[in-house]
Amino acid sequence: SAPIEIRNLSKTYRLGFLMNRQVRALQSLDLTLMPGQVYGLLGPNGAGKSTTIKILMNLVRASAGEARLFGLTPDDKEARRRVGYVPENPAPYEYLTGREFVTLSGRLAGMSGKELDDRVSQVLGMVQMERAAGLQIRRYSKGMVQRVALAQALVSRPSLLILDEPTSGLDPVGRRQIRDLILEERERGTTILFCTHIIPDVEALCERVAVLVGGRRVREGSVAELLSSE
Ligand code: ADP
Ligand code: ADP
Repeated sequence: SAPIEIRNLSKTYRLGFLMNRQVRALQSLDLTLMPGQVYGLLGPNGAGKSTTIKILMNLVRASAGEARLFGLTPDDKEARRRVGYVPENPAPYEYLTGREFVTLSGRLAGMSGKELDDRVSQVLGMVQMERAAGLQIRRYSKGMVQRVALAQALVSRPSLLILDEPTSGLDPVGRRQIRDLILEERERGTTILFCTHIIPDVEALCERVAVLVGGRRVREGSVAELLSSE
């Protein structure tokens, strides 16, 4: 089955202290990711991008419709093991070192022993964090936190990566590094859902895009189609 299949997905947030205040964050969203696709989820702030991702990651419950990962529901353990996730503002335990954080992520995915240690070193190398791996995360710059968050997402060799604004707040050099890593993963055949509002990132990385505005999908197609019809 498709790495991601979303049908008729809607989400209404009810504001806690005033139950009659509602925010319609998603309205009847459809989205399909085929294996190996790098798919851009585009749209302005408040469009519903993070809500879509949080429903897929089982952090938010949908109000209606369905979301499937490899044909499984987002609360399925097996589905979760196949997904690497970088949240919009990664807030890792700041008293852990980078290496400890990435190791913990591998353990949670069921890895252990020498296989885990070797893979942790490998992904820390991939994100160029081996030299800072022994430092506590609270000493890291924003770019370093972003890179170590990507390392923890990659440690279990997921076949699907879900990246929520992975280059936001980075300088051009940091953005370039994250882009190059995403390109390497694409070469490996990893399916990637890439949420952003940075058009050059979409042009550089994605083959297909959906544009969300106000919780609705207003465009869907190949990057070439969408950019040529602007
Ligand atoms: P539907 O109207 O059936 O929900 P969509 O509006 O999602 O389909 O898609 C419109 C067209 O684009 C369909 O022909 C569909 O097969 C194709 N399509 C949708 N998602 C993808 C994708 N990730 N890769 C390739 N083609 C896609
Ligand atoms: P995006 O990621 O595209 O910026 P979001 O999914 O974060 O969009 O937000 C979609 C809408 O839902 C916005 O109007 C936002 O204010 C609202 N929203 C998001 N999270 C919550 C929440 N926990 N409670 C209430 N409203 C929320």
